[in-house]
Amino acid sequence: MRTKRRIFPALLLALVSLACFLPAQGAEPKNVVLLIGDGMGPEAVGLAVYYNRFMNGMDKRLNMERLMAAGNTGYCLTYQYGTVVTGSASAGTALASGVKTRDTILGKDHDGRSMKTLVDIARQLGKSAGVISNTRLTHATPAAFYAHVIHRRMENEIAVQLVERGDLAVALSGGARHFIPAGTKVEDHPDLKGIDKQAGWGGSRRKDSRDLIAEARNKGYSLVANERELLALDAQKTEKLLGLFSASGFPSAIDRQPRHQTGVPTLSQLSEKSLEILKRNPRGFFLMVEGGQIDWVEHGNDVASVLHEVLEFDQAIGVVMAFAEKNPDTLVIVTADHDTGGLAIGYSNYNPPSPVKLPSGETWKTKYNFGDRSIFEKMAGQKKSFLKMFRDSQGNPAAFKKEVEENSLFKISEEEAAAMLSRDAKGAFPAPKGYSEVFVRAAVSPTASMAHLFGKETNTAWAVGTHTHTPVMIFADGPLAEKFRGLLDNVDVPQIIARGWGATLPAPK
Ligand SMILES: [Zn+2]
Repeated sequence: MRTKRRIFPALLLALVSLACFLPAQGAEPKNVVLLIGDGMGPEAVGLAVYYNRFMNGMDKRLNMERLMAAGNTGYCLTYQYGTVVTGSASAGTALASGVKTRDTILGKDHDGRSMKTLVDIARQLGKSAGVISNTRLTHATPAAFYAHVIHRRMENEIAVQLVERGDLAVALSGGARHFIPAGTKVEDHPDLKGIDKQAGWGGSRRKDSRDLIAEARNKGYSLVANERELLALDAQKTEKLLGLFSASGFPSAIDRQPRHQTGVPTLSQLSEKSLEILKRNPRGFFLMVEGGQIDWVEHGNDVASVLHEVLEFDQAIGVVMAFAEKNPDTLVIVTADHDTGGLAIGYSNYNPPSPVKLPSGETWKTKYNFGDRSIFEKMAGQKKSFLKMFRDSQGNPAAFKKEVEENSLFKISEEEAAAMLSRDAKGAFPAPKGYSEVFVRAAVSPTASMAHLFGKETNTAWAVGTHTHTPVMIFADGPLAEKFRGLLDNVDVPQIIARGWGATLPAPK
């Protein structure tokens, strides 16, 4: 319905709008769910969108596209205090507290002053709050919402801050190793026996004898450690829930196929149970959901794994959207903390298509391969993350070749495998030429070389193995969603939410 340039219809429309839509438009959101795809730049979004269309049908839409269709979409600048590129800690702090800070800092401004977060504001207003991630509870993005430390590596201290504040109604992720006494193992802890070995066992990283899980229980937390325990939990009888599903991060989504193999819940299952618990508060809630491993596999330049992570994140978006449809006083925001990798799908001169005789009688031909459905079929043909192929081959070139050929449609010779596995004097794996400065994880794995060798099969190239400056997408629906249009700055996001609740960010804690 187009507005006509006559006063009466415009007035009528305004009155009808006021009467019908007042609760949704401009009203304050009772509930806010902020979904953060860590490292999910526009390239990763585009990858998943195209994959879904070319593989599942051109009429198919992802949940995030349905959210975009609401029309409240924009871009977010992600630079941190004084620099063009951001780290995850400062990006998380920007999204949680509305303040630009330095790399590594969580919950503090660039002068080191502790700042309030959206969780703090929600709690002041009597709302419940929660954080979910498939990384670790103590990892940068979730920690930015409840902790205040000068360096993100202080994960033992971050775990202490989580339990001592004790006011998150749901806290679900990995990272159990930071919650158990020094010298003990995750799998031996009475509350963590449910963690599957494939989900990740391991020893404590604490330096003291504190059992933060026992302390959390004393503060009224129920505990779950695998998918079965999560699903069996009665949300109506649960006041506060701590879920620790692995010693460190969850296994990559691609390495959790087929489902149920590792006992680790999906982001969707975590979101669903969290919403059931949080919605019991009549004053509403704030929930942060992180698809945290999009970034991890982008650091490894592993495009098929990126696809799995984005699609898992998209499923969680669908769960939150379904909740918001039933609870229209819920604001749903999807964004990223930054782009990682600078992924590109380009056209190439590798394997150009054969000429085609057209019905017109003319012959069509091109010199270039513009990337058809087959590039996505090759991505779908990958069954393990690059990192897991590398780890499972234990440095043996023949085993590495076998890993690649059994778990992907890519080819590698034993000589190429041996070259990728050879370390330099500093212990680093060789990075592709001219790439070593921007692939800072060469000490950990040779995945950049894998991406470089296999890239031509999927028309894929990566700019870096680190973060990039690329502005990230933001899209929203529900009350206040219209504020998330256009070009924003990451610090605007929590500021808009706080203002919508009648509060102010940034604010000293
Ligand atoms: Zn990040």
